[in-house]
Amino acid sequence: MNLLNKKRLVLLVILFITIGLFSLQQPSENSFRGDAVVSEPTAPEKGTRPLKSISDKFEKGETLSSIFKKYGMHTDDLFELKSAVASIQSLRDIKPGKPYSFTLNKDNYISSFTCGIDDDTILKIERVDGCFQAQKYNIPYETRILTIGGTIQNTLVSAFGNEREDYLLALQAADILAWDIDFNTDVRKGDTFRIIVEGLYSEGKFKKYGRILSIEFVNGSQTYNAYLFEQDGKTDYYNADGQSLRKAFLKAPLSFRRISSHFSRSRLHPILKVRRPHHGIDYVAATGTPVSTVADGRITFAGYKSGYGKIVIVNHANGYQTYYGHLSRIKSNIRPGKKVQQGDLIGNVGATGLATGPHLHFEMRQGGRAINPLAVKKVAGSPVPAAQMAEFKNTTQTMNNIYTVALFFDTNNTQRKNHSLQPALLYASLASSSPQGKFRKN
Ligand SMILES: [Zn+2]
Repeated sequence: MNLLNKKRLVLLVILFITIGLFSLQQPSENSFRGDAVVSEPTAPEKGTRPLKSISDKFEKGETLSSIFKKYGMHTDDLFELKSAVASIQSLRDIKPGKPYSFTLNKDNYISSFTCGIDDDTILKIERVDGCFQAQKYNIPYETRILTIGGTIQNTLVSAFGNEREDYLLALQAADILAWDIDFNTDVRKGDTFRIIVEGLYSEGKFKKYGRILSIEFVNGSQTYNAYLFEQDGKTDYYNADGQSLRKAFLKAPLSFRRISSHFSRSRLHPILKVRRPHHGIDYVAATGTPVSTVADGRITFAGYKSGYGKIVIVNHANGYQTYYGHLSRIKSNIRPGKKVQQGDLIGNVGATGLATGPHLHFEMRQGGRAINPLAVKKVAGSPVPAAQMAEFKNTTQTMNNIYTVALFFDTNNTQRKNHSLQPALLYASLASSSPQGKFRKN
């Protein structure tokens, strides 16, 4: 098991699941690759059949008009194209880097136009009987299953790698375990994680991650497991016993996701320290750090109270109350009587009232008495129903088999998204849902 001893291990593709979404009727050979391509087919063309195709990506600041100018296309085509599209898609907010392609006839009039709208959608416009017809298509991703592992050296985000997709995956993982782990303050150097996740591929290339199917997070001496399972058309995460991971109270009032998007990634240590000097918890954090309510409830107070400074108090079910003090700012719509949902933004960290420096004073009470917030672990989501337990156990068994047989390579290994191990073979053996004993450990 030398490989497993490596500090950071990464992935192995295990199974291929091909999801046939839409397939574009006529994907242009030249579309969506690299630099601008302008090609002149050699076969003779006539009428309105395409003579020329152009493929490129939207540059920063580039608009459809400037692209038309660049390639000498006709302004009447531009107007017609825009009006054909208007009802289904605004072309104004297409992000730089999105690919597009045109096919043109011999007079430089458009036969068809295709462009990427977002990560999931392609817009295609064709001239049919002289008129433009626009339609949106889902990008036909091929879904593969990836197994990714890592060890925390610094922050959760940095342990996942440097690309945008890695960052989004880290946030997805943090969201799944937000009721049990405060990723701002609980993670320690040496904590490890293993994730079984969908990888979405297009034309054989990794594009982005899909859903996390299962996660195992070792935080100090505690191991947390989550399994994705669908019931009544809704997917949710459960522990190995089929209990929902959702709890009445989030682990912390400082959401890892909110903080990650509030601060730049280069300074993802906005929370310096956690102190427990009295009944509550003090989070020493940068001024401005977003604060969110840990549970559904109703605001009972939002304003200034001596000592606490600017404070928000929320009433929850079963006589619970939570206090968020020393805020620099209370969100404008947070007023007494307003209903809030778990995770809603209520204000920002500050140092108002009796505070020596910026920190969030957080406390929880029940029936007026201060209680330890970390001791409240009321499960809020429904467990897997008995009728579906066998199916759920089958799911966890499949995931556990993957944990047993797969290599979870290091997150920083660039191969992890383009590995080409023999997924089909492994899938075949997993699909037969053999008992775990049949699999040999690598
Ligand atoms: Zn305090």
